[in-house]
Amino acid sequence: MAGEPQADCLFCKIVAGDVPATVVRDTETTLAFRDINPQAPTHVLVIPKAHHQDAVTLAVEAPQIAADVLREAAAVAEEEGIAVAEGGPGTGYRVVFNTGTGAGQTVFHAHAHVLGGRGLNWPPG
Ligand code: 5GP
Repeated sequence: MAGEPQADCLFCKIVAGDVPATVVRDTETTLAFRDINPQAPTHVLVIPKAHHQDAVTLAVEAPQIAADVLREAAAVAEEEGIAVAEGGPGTGYRVVFNTGTGAGQTVFHAHAHVLGGRGLNWPPG
């Protein structure tokens, strides 16, 4: 059933406390923790605690929780000091939802990457 924990899901295991993570924010519906392989000085993952396979599925199955994930991504950026609207390189941030293997998704539990703290190029690789 949509949202139920999956035994073979890494991020469900992090939510359950069975796999350790460096948690930076914890709400009733979401968890934010540092990426194990950071691609920028700030690289935090924000996930719904419930299992949904990707961001679009989350938005369809649980739109309120999708909004919670975005709100928490903004809160992480504020806490990390990167949510500066008109600063130079290293300010501002990117919220990325890799969706599908072809786009680089490797963990099939919805998650937002919050990246910042350095200049970010466009287009991304
Ligand atoms: P994706 O490639 O699916 O968009 O993102 C998955 C992210 O999860 C990757 O950036 C990867 O570094 C991160 N990751 C994979 N395993 C772990 C882990 O055990 N702990 C943490 N904190 N991050 C992980």
